[in-house]
Amino acid sequence: MLSVTEALAQIARHSQPGRTEMTRLADSLGLTLAASINATADSPPFDKSMMDGFAVRSADISAAETVLSVVERTVAGQVPQKTVGTGEAIQVMTGTAVPAGCDAVIPVEQLEDRGETISVAISSIGAGRNIMRQGESMQSGETVLPAGRPITPAQLALLAELGRYEVEAWRRPQIAVLATGNELVPVDRQPGPGQIRNSNEPMLTAQIQSAGATPQPLGIARDEHDELKAKIEAGLQSDFLILSGGVSAGVLDLVPQVLAECGVEQVFHKVKLKPGKPIWFGVRPESEQGGRCLVFGLPGNPVSSLVCFELFVKPALRLVQGLENSIEPLQAELTQAHLVKGDRPVYHPARWRVENGKLTAQPTRWVGSADLRGTAEANGMIHFSPREATYECGETVELFPWFTTPDLPQP
Ligand code: AMP
Ligand code: MG
Repeated sequence: MLSVTEALAQIARHSQPGRTEMTRLADSLGLTLAASINATADSPPFDKSMMDGFAVRSADISAAETVLSVVERTVAGQVPQKTVGTGEAIQVMTGTAVPAGCDAVIPVEQLEDRGETISVAISSIGAGRNIMRQGESMQSGETVLPAGRPITPAQLALLAELGRYEVEAWRRPQIAVLATGNELVPVDRQPGPGQIRNSNEPMLTAQIQSAGATPQPLGIARDEHDELKAKIEAGLQSDFLILSGGVSAGVLDLVPQVLAECGVEQVFHKVKLKPGKPIWFGVRPESEQGGRCLVFGLPGNPVSSLVCFELFVKPALRLVQGLENSIEPLQAELTQAHLVKGDRPVYHPARWRVENGKLTAQPTRWVGSADLRGTAEANGMIHFSPREATYECGETVELFPWFTTPDLPQP
Protein backbone atom coordinates (compact mmCIF):
# COMPACT_ATOMS: atom_id res chain seq x y z
CA MET A 1 0.00 0.00 0.00
CA LEU A 2 1.20 3.54 -0.80
CA SER A 3 2.47 5.75 1.96
CA VAL A 4 0.99 9.24 2.42
CA THR A 5 4.20 10.74 1.00
CA GLU A 6 4.07 8.52 -2.09
CA ALA A 7 0.38 9.30 -2.61
CA LEU A 8 1.07 13.04 -2.35
CA ALA A 9 3.87 12.72 -4.91
CA GLN A 10 1.51 10.97 -7.34
CA ILE A 11 -1.14 13.64 -6.83
CA ALA A 12 1.45 16.36 -7.43
CA ARG A 13 2.56 14.70 -10.65
CA HIS A 14 -0.98 14.91 -12.01
CA SER A 15 -1.89 18.37 -10.72
CA GLN A 16 -0.64 20.75 -13.37
CA PRO A 17 -1.52 24.41 -13.07
CA GLY A 18 -4.84 25.22 -14.73
CA ARG A 19 -5.72 28.28 -16.80
CA THR A 20 -5.20 31.91 -15.97
CA GLU A 21 -7.73 34.61 -16.73
CA MET A 22 -8.33 38.31 -16.25
CA THR A 23 -10.37 38.65 -13.08
CA ARG A 24 -12.18 41.66 -11.64
CA LEU A 25 -10.37 42.96 -8.61
CA ALA A 26 -13.53 42.54 -6.51
CA ASP A 27 -13.57 38.79 -7.28
CA SER A 28 -9.89 38.08 -6.80
CA LEU A 29 -9.44 37.66 -3.03
CA GLY A 30 -7.44 34.47 -2.43
CA LEU A 31 -6.64 33.89 -6.11
CA THR A 32 -3.01 33.62 -7.12
CA LEU A 33 -1.44 36.33 -9.24
CA ALA A 34 -0.32 34.84 -12.56
CA ALA A 35 1.87 37.80 -13.53
CA SER A 36 3.94 40.10 -11.39
CA ILE A 37 2.73 43.65 -10.90
CA ASN A 38 4.88 46.71 -11.52
CA ALA A 39 4.17 50.19 -10.23
CA THR A 40 3.16 52.50 -13.06
CA ALA A 41 3.70 55.68 -11.05
CA ASP A 42 5.51 56.86 -7.96
CA SER A 43 3.68 56.57 -4.65
CA PRO A 44 3.06 58.99 -3.26
CA PRO A 45 2.91 60.80 -6.61
CA PHE A 46 4.08 64.05 -4.91
CA ASP A 47 5.63 65.07 -1.57
CA LYS A 48 2.66 64.91 0.75
CA SER A 49 1.78 65.99 4.25
CA MET A 50 1.31 63.22 6.80
CA MET A 51 -0.48 65.52 9.26
CA ASP A 52 -3.27 68.05 9.45
CA GLY A 53 -1.21 71.17 10.13
CA PHE A 54 0.83 73.96 8.59
CA ALA A 55 3.62 73.67 6.02
CA VAL A 56 6.60 75.78 7.11
CA ARG A 57 10.31 76.33 6.62
CA SER A 58 12.06 74.42 9.42
CA ALA A 59 14.74 77.14 9.66
CA ASP A 60 12.04 79.63 10.77
CA ILE A 61 11.23 77.72 13.95
CA SER A 62 13.27 78.85 16.92
CA ALA A 63 13.32 78.60 20.71
CA ALA A 64 11.65 81.98 21.06
CA GLU A 65 7.96 82.01 20.30
CA THR A 66 7.63 81.76 16.50
CA VAL A 67 4.76 83.58 14.85
CA LEU A 68 4.21 82.92 11.15
CA SER A 69 1.74 84.55 8.81
CA VAL A 70 -0.78 82.29 7.14
CA VAL A 71 -0.66 82.94 3.38
CA GLU A 72 -3.05 80.20 2.21
CA ARG A 73 -5.38 77.51 3.56
CA THR A 74 -6.08 74.26 1.68
CA VAL A 75 -8.35 71.31 2.34
CA ALA A 76 -8.13 67.69 1.12
CA GLY A 77 -7.98 67.48 -2.66
CA GLN A 78 -6.85 71.09 -3.12
CA VAL A 79 -3.39 71.80 -4.42
CA PRO A 80 -1.63 74.76 -2.74
CA GLN A 81 -1.13 77.62 -5.19
CA LYS A 82 1.36 79.67 -3.19
CA THR A 83 4.94 79.15 -2.04
CA VAL A 84 5.98 79.22 1.60
CA GLY A 85 8.37 82.11 2.05
CA THR A 86 10.38 83.07 5.12
CA GLY A 87 8.08 83.69 8.08
CA GLU A 88 5.11 82.16 6.28
CA ALA A 89 2.91 79.09 6.65
CA ILE A 90 0.26 77.35 4.52
CA GLN A 91 -2.45 75.20 6.06
CA VAL A 92 -2.45 71.63 4.74
CA MET A 93 -4.37 68.43 5.47
CA THR A 94 -3.12 64.86 5.72
CA GLY A 95 -2.45 63.77 2.16
CA THR A 96 -2.20 67.28 0.67
CA ALA A 97 0.69 67.92 -1.70
CA VAL A 98 2.99 70.16 0.27
CA PRO A 99 3.57 73.61 -1.19
CA ALA A 100 6.87 74.69 -2.70
CA GLY A 101 9.28 76.35 -0.33
CA CYS A 102 8.36 74.36 2.78
CA ASP A 103 10.37 71.48 4.23
CA ALA A 104 8.28 70.47 7.27
CA VAL A 105 4.72 70.30 8.53
CA ILE A 106 3.80 71.33 12.08
CA PRO A 107 0.74 69.41 13.35
CA VAL A 108 -2.22 71.57 14.49
CA GLU A 109 -1.77 70.21 18.01
CA GLN A 110 1.63 71.95 18.23
CA LEU A 111 0.50 75.48 17.40
CA GLU A 112 -2.18 78.03 18.05
CA ASP A 113 -4.19 79.15 15.04
CA ARG A 114 -4.95 82.88 15.36
CA GLY A 115 -6.46 83.38 11.92
CA GLU A 116 -3.98 85.71 10.17
CA THR A 117 -1.09 84.06 11.98
CA ILE A 118 -0.08 80.94 13.84
CA SER A 119 1.92 80.81 17.02
CA VAL A 120 4.15 77.76 17.14
CA ALA A 121 4.41 75.87 20.45
CA ILE A 122 7.57 73.89 19.65
CA SER A 123 11.12 75.25 19.67
CA SER A 124 12.42 73.42 16.59
CA ILE A 125 11.42 70.98 13.87
CA GLY A 126 13.64 68.79 11.70
CA ALA A 127 13.71 69.22 7.93
CA GLY A 128 11.44 66.66 6.27
CA ARG A 129 9.35 66.15 9.39
CA ASN A 130 5.78 64.93 8.69
CA ILE A 131 6.36 64.88 4.93
CA MET A 132 6.29 61.69 2.88
CA ARG A 133 8.52 62.11 -0.15
CA GLN A 134 7.42 61.34 -3.69
CA GLY A 135 8.20 57.67 -4.49
CA GLU A 136 9.04 56.82 -0.89
CA SER A 137 6.56 53.92 -0.84
CA MET A 138 7.18 52.72 -4.41
CA GLN A 139 8.82 54.02 -7.53
CA SER A 140 7.48 53.81 -11.04
CA GLY A 141 8.66 50.61 -12.75
CA GLU A 142 9.42 48.75 -9.53
CA THR A 143 7.97 45.21 -9.12
CA VAL A 144 5.66 45.47 -6.13
CA LEU A 145 3.87 42.09 -6.20
CA PRO A 146 5.53 38.96 -7.54
CA ALA A 147 3.53 36.29 -9.38
CA GLY A 148 2.59 33.16 -7.46
CA ARG A 149 1.17 34.70 -4.30
CA PRO A 150 -2.42 34.49 -3.09
CA ILE A 151 -4.10 37.90 -3.13
CA THR A 152 -4.75 39.31 0.35
CA PRO A 153 -6.91 42.29 1.36
CA ALA A 154 -3.79 44.48 1.65
CA GLN A 155 -2.70 43.42 -1.83
CA LEU A 156 -6.16 44.26 -3.16
CA ALA A 157 -5.69 47.78 -1.81
CA LEU A 158 -2.27 48.07 -3.42
CA LEU A 159 -3.68 46.85 -6.75
CA ALA A 160 -6.49 49.39 -6.40
CA GLU A 161 -3.97 52.17 -5.69
CA LEU A 162 -2.27 51.19 -8.95
CA GLY A 163 -5.57 51.35 -10.84
CA ARG A 164 -5.59 47.60 -11.54
CA TYR A 165 -9.33 46.95 -11.63
CA GLU A 166 -8.57 43.60 -13.29
CA VAL A 167 -5.69 41.24 -12.64
CA GLU A 168 -4.40 38.13 -14.33
CA ALA A 169 -4.87 35.26 -11.90
CA TRP A 170 -5.18 31.50 -11.90
CA ARG A 171 -8.78 30.48 -12.39
CA ARG A 172 -10.64 29.41 -9.26
CA PRO A 173 -11.13 25.63 -9.67
CA GLN A 174 -14.70 24.30 -9.95
CA ILE A 175 -15.17 21.26 -7.75
CA ALA A 176 -18.11 18.90 -8.16
CA VAL A 177 -19.17 16.98 -5.03
CA LEU A 178 -21.11 13.74 -5.33
CA ALA A 179 -22.15 11.71 -2.28
CA THR A 180 -22.87 8.06 -2.98
CA GLY A 181 -24.86 5.59 -0.92
CA ASN A 182 -28.30 3.96 -0.83
CA GLU A 183 -28.57 4.79 2.85
CA LEU A 184 -28.26 8.56 2.36
CA VAL A 185 -31.07 11.08 2.56
CA PRO A 186 -30.80 14.86 2.08
CA VAL A 187 -30.14 16.87 5.24
CA ASP A 188 -33.71 18.22 5.39
CA ARG A 189 -35.25 14.72 5.34
CA GLN A 190 -36.02 12.46 8.30
CA PRO A 191 -33.94 9.27 7.90
CA GLY A 192 -35.95 6.06 7.81
CA PRO A 193 -34.74 2.71 9.19
CA GLY A 194 -31.14 2.10 8.13
CA GLN A 195 -30.78 5.59 6.65
CA ILE A 196 -28.53 8.53 7.58
CA ARG A 197 -28.30 12.13 6.47
CA ASN A 198 -25.80 13.20 3.82
CA SER A 199 -23.49 15.11 6.14
CA ASN A 200 -20.52 14.87 3.78
CA GLU A 201 -21.95 17.23 1.22
CA PRO A 202 -22.17 20.35 3.40
CA MET A 203 -18.80 19.48 4.96
CA LEU A 204 -16.95 19.03 1.67
CA THR A 205 -18.69 22.05 0.17
CA ALA A 206 -17.47 24.16 3.07
CA GLN A 207 -13.96 22.73 2.88
CA ILE A 208 -13.85 23.57 -0.82
CA GLN A 209 -14.96 27.12 -0.11
CA SER A 210 -12.46 27.60 2.66
CA ALA A 211 -9.74 26.33 0.33
CA GLY A 212 -10.64 29.11 -2.13
CA ALA A 213 -12.33 26.95 -4.79
CA THR A 214 -15.93 26.90 -6.05
CA PRO A 215 -18.08 23.94 -4.95
CA GLN A 216 -20.73 22.41 -7.20
CA PRO A 217 -22.78 20.03 -5.03
CA LEU A 218 -24.47 17.33 -7.09
CA GLY A 219 -26.54 15.71 -4.34
CA ILE A 220 -26.78 11.98 -3.75
CA ALA A 221 -26.22 9.10 -6.16
CA ARG A 222 -27.63 5.74 -5.17
CA ASP A 223 -25.35 2.69 -5.38
CA GLU A 224 -26.86 1.82 -8.70
CA HIS A 225 -24.85 1.61 -11.91
CA ASP A 226 -26.80 3.84 -14.31
CA GLU A 227 -27.61 6.57 -11.81
CA LEU A 228 -24.03 6.66 -10.57
CA LYS A 229 -22.67 6.79 -14.09
CA ALA A 230 -24.95 9.66 -15.16
CA LYS A 231 -24.00 11.73 -12.11
CA ILE A 232 -20.30 10.97 -12.47
CA GLU A 233 -20.42 12.07 -16.12
CA ALA A 234 -21.96 15.35 -15.01
CA GLY A 235 -19.30 15.79 -12.32
CA LEU A 236 -16.49 15.15 -14.79
CA GLN A 237 -17.32 18.45 -16.48
CA SER A 238 -15.70 20.25 -13.51
CA ASP A 239 -11.99 20.67 -12.82
CA PHE A 240 -12.22 18.22 -9.92
CA LEU A 241 -14.80 15.61 -9.00
CA ILE A 242 -14.92 14.60 -5.36
CA LEU A 243 -16.97 11.54 -4.53
CA SER A 244 -17.69 10.29 -1.08
CA GLY A 245 -18.37 6.65 -0.33
CA GLY A 246 -18.37 3.58 -2.51
CA VAL A 247 -14.60 3.02 -2.65
CA SER A 248 -14.26 0.43 0.14
CA ALA A 249 -14.80 -3.30 0.00
CA GLY A 250 -18.59 -3.31 0.34
CA VAL A 251 -20.86 -5.27 -1.99
CA LEU A 252 -22.19 -2.08 -3.61
CA ASP A 253 -18.92 -0.15 -3.72
CA LEU A 254 -19.23 0.52 -7.43
CA VAL A 255 -17.33 3.80 -7.71
CA PRO A 256 -13.96 2.56 -9.09
CA GLN A 257 -15.65 0.39 -11.72
CA VAL A 258 -17.99 3.15 -12.92
CA LEU A 259 -15.18 5.71 -12.97
CA ALA A 260 -13.19 3.38 -15.24
CA GLU A 261 -16.20 3.09 -17.58
CA CYS A 262 -16.31 6.91 -17.71
CA GLY A 263 -12.69 7.07 -18.90
CA VAL A 264 -11.12 7.97 -15.55
CA GLU A 265 -7.68 6.39 -15.24
CA GLN A 266 -6.86 5.15 -11.77
CA VAL A 267 -3.62 6.50 -10.26
CA PHE A 268 -3.92 4.83 -6.89
CA HIS A 269 -6.40 3.08 -4.61
CA LYS A 270 -5.72 2.80 -0.87
CA VAL A 271 -3.14 4.67 1.18
CA LYS A 272 -1.58 3.63 4.44
CA LEU A 273 -3.21 6.04 6.89
CA LYS A 274 -6.03 6.27 9.42
CA PRO A 275 -8.68 7.40 8.84
CA GLY A 276 -9.05 7.25 5.07
CA LYS A 277 -7.35 4.06 3.92
CA PRO A 278 -9.72 3.30 0.98
CA ILE A 279 -9.05 6.65 -0.78
CA TRP A 280 -9.06 6.46 -4.58
CA PHE A 281 -7.42 8.92 -6.98
CA GLY A 282 -7.51 9.12 -10.75
CA VAL A 283 -7.48 11.42 -13.76
CA ARG A 284 -9.88 11.79 -16.65
CA PRO A 285 -7.65 13.12 -19.45
CA GLU A 286 -8.87 15.90 -21.71
CA SER A 287 -11.01 14.42 -24.49
CA GLU A 288 -14.01 15.16 -26.69
CA GLN A 289 -16.16 14.51 -23.62
CA GLY A 290 -14.62 17.42 -21.79
CA GLY A 291 -11.55 18.91 -20.12
CA ARG A 292 -9.13 17.23 -17.80
CA CYS A 293 -10.62 16.32 -14.42
CA LEU A 294 -8.92 15.14 -11.25
CA VAL A 295 -11.07 12.63 -9.41
CA PHE A 296 -10.88 11.85 -5.70
CA GLY A 297 -12.97 9.01 -4.32
CA LEU A 298 -13.04 9.71 -0.59
CA PRO A 299 -14.16 7.05 1.89
CA GLY A 300 -17.72 7.69 3.04
CA ASN A 301 -17.11 7.93 6.74
CA PRO A 302 -17.29 11.65 7.48
CA VAL A 303 -13.99 11.99 9.33
CA SER A 304 -12.20 9.98 6.65
CA SER A 305 -13.62 12.29 4.00
CA LEU A 306 -12.64 15.36 5.99
CA VAL A 307 -9.09 14.21 6.68
CA CYS A 308 -8.50 13.04 3.11
CA PHE A 309 -9.71 16.37 1.76
CA GLU A 310 -7.31 18.29 4.02
CA LEU A 311 -4.40 15.97 3.34
CA PHE A 312 -4.76 15.09 -0.36
CA VAL A 313 -7.22 17.40 -2.12
CA LYS A 314 -5.90 20.69 -0.73
CA PRO A 315 -2.35 20.27 -2.08
CA ALA A 316 -3.82 19.50 -5.52
CA LEU A 317 -5.95 22.66 -5.28
CA ARG A 318 -2.85 24.68 -4.48
CA LEU A 319 -0.95 23.30 -7.45
CA VAL A 320 -3.66 23.91 -10.03
CA GLN A 321 -3.82 27.50 -8.75
CA GLY A 322 -0.15 28.09 -9.39
CA LEU A 323 0.92 27.80 -5.75
CA GLU A 324 3.62 25.63 -4.29
CA ASN A 325 2.60 22.10 -3.59
CA SER A 326 3.35 21.39 -0.03
CA ILE A 327 1.23 22.03 3.00
CA GLU A 328 3.86 21.71 5.68
CA PRO A 329 2.69 20.88 9.18
CA LEU A 330 3.34 23.24 12.08
CA GLN A 331 5.21 22.09 15.19
CA ALA A 332 3.03 22.03 18.30
CA GLU A 333 3.44 20.94 21.89
CA LEU A 334 1.25 18.00 22.87
CA THR A 335 -0.82 18.78 25.98
CA GLN A 336 -1.75 15.24 26.96
CA ALA A 337 -0.18 11.81 26.61
CA HIS A 338 -1.42 9.80 23.67
CA LEU A 339 -0.99 6.20 22.61
CA VAL A 340 -1.19 5.24 18.93
CA LYS A 341 -2.44 1.78 18.16
CA GLY A 342 -1.84 -0.11 14.92
CA ASP A 343 0.74 0.24 12.19
CA ARG A 344 -0.76 3.08 10.15
CA PRO A 345 0.01 6.79 10.64
CA VAL A 346 -2.95 8.44 12.33
CA TYR A 347 -4.31 11.91 11.59
CA HIS A 348 -6.11 12.55 14.84
CA PRO A 349 -8.59 15.44 15.25
CA ALA A 350 -7.10 17.97 17.66
CA ARG A 351 -7.73 21.35 19.18
CA TRP A 352 -4.81 23.74 18.80
CA ARG A 353 -4.33 27.11 20.39
CA VAL A 354 -1.59 29.60 21.09
CA GLU A 355 -0.82 29.78 24.82
CA ASN A 356 1.75 32.30 26.03
CA GLY A 357 3.10 32.53 22.51
CA LYS A 358 3.43 28.75 22.20
CA LEU A 359 1.43 26.55 19.84
CA THR A 360 -0.16 23.67 21.72
CA ALA A 361 -2.34 20.81 20.47
CA GLN A 362 -4.69 18.49 22.30
CA PRO A 363 -6.17 15.37 20.70
CA THR A 364 -9.97 15.53 20.96
CA ARG A 365 -12.03 12.65 22.27
CA TRP A 366 -12.61 10.73 19.09
CA VAL A 367 -14.13 7.30 18.71
CA GLY A 368 -13.41 6.70 15.06
CA SER A 369 -14.04 7.76 11.52
CA ALA A 370 -17.81 8.14 11.93
CA ASP A 371 -17.50 10.36 15.04
CA LEU A 372 -18.39 13.87 13.92
CA ARG A 373 -19.18 15.00 17.45
CA GLY A 374 -15.58 14.59 18.62
CA THR A 375 -14.30 15.95 15.32
CA ALA A 376 -16.42 19.08 15.61
CA GLU A 377 -14.41 19.95 18.75
CA ALA A 378 -11.26 19.99 16.64
CA ASN A 379 -9.70 22.77 14.54
CA GLY A 380 -6.89 20.67 13.14
CA MET A 381 -5.27 17.27 13.19
CA ILE A 382 -2.14 15.84 14.74
CA HIS A 383 -0.03 13.46 12.70
CA PHE A 384 1.07 10.54 14.88
CA SER A 385 3.35 8.08 13.14
CA PRO A 386 3.01 4.55 14.46
CA ARG A 387 5.29 3.66 17.35
CA GLU A 388 5.27 1.39 20.37
CA ALA A 389 5.80 4.08 23.00
CA THR A 390 3.23 6.58 24.17
CA TYR A 391 3.50 10.14 22.88
CA GLU A 392 4.18 12.07 26.08
CA CYS A 393 2.67 15.33 27.24
CA GLY A 394 5.08 18.11 26.21
CA GLU A 395 6.44 16.31 23.14
CA THR A 396 6.59 18.17 19.84
CA VAL A 397 4.14 16.83 17.27
CA GLU A 398 3.16 17.73 13.72
CA LEU A 399 -0.04 19.74 13.47
CA PHE A 400 -2.14 20.45 10.39
CA PRO A 401 -4.58 23.30 11.08
CA TRP A 402 -7.94 22.98 9.32
CA PHE A 403 -10.10 25.51 7.48
CA THR A 404 -8.16 28.60 8.52
CA THR A 405 -5.32 28.31 6.05
CA PRO A 406 -5.87 31.64 4.27
CA ASP A 407 -5.43 33.47 7.59
CA LEU A 408 -2.39 31.56 8.69
CA PRO A 409 1.11 32.16 7.43
CA GLN A 410 1.44 29.71 4.55
CA PRO A 411 4.16 27.34 5.71
P1 AMP B 1 -18.67 3.72 2.28
O1 AMP B 1 -17.36 4.40 2.08
O2 AMP B 1 -19.64 4.00 1.16
O3 AMP B 1 -18.50 2.26 2.55
O4 AMP B 1 -19.33 4.36 3.57
C1 AMP B 1 -18.70 4.23 4.83
C2 AMP B 1 -19.58 4.78 5.92
O5 AMP B 1 -19.76 6.17 5.71
C3 AMP B 1 -20.96 4.18 5.93
O6 AMP B 1 -21.36 4.00 7.28
C4 AMP B 1 -21.81 5.24 5.28
O7 AMP B 1 -23.14 5.20 5.71
C5 AMP B 1 -21.14 6.51 5.69
N1 AMP B 1 -21.35 7.55 4.69
C6 AMP B 1 -21.20 7.40 3.37
N2 AMP B 1 -21.49 8.54 2.72
C7 AMP B 1 -21.85 9.42 3.67
C8 AMP B 1 -22.28 10.77 3.61
N3 AMP B 1 -22.41 11.42 2.44
N4 AMP B 1 -22.57 11.39 4.76
C9 AMP B 1 -22.46 10.73 5.93
N5 AMP B 1 -22.06 9.47 6.04
C10 AMP B 1 -21.75 8.80 4.93
MG1 MG C 1 -21.43 3.35 0.51
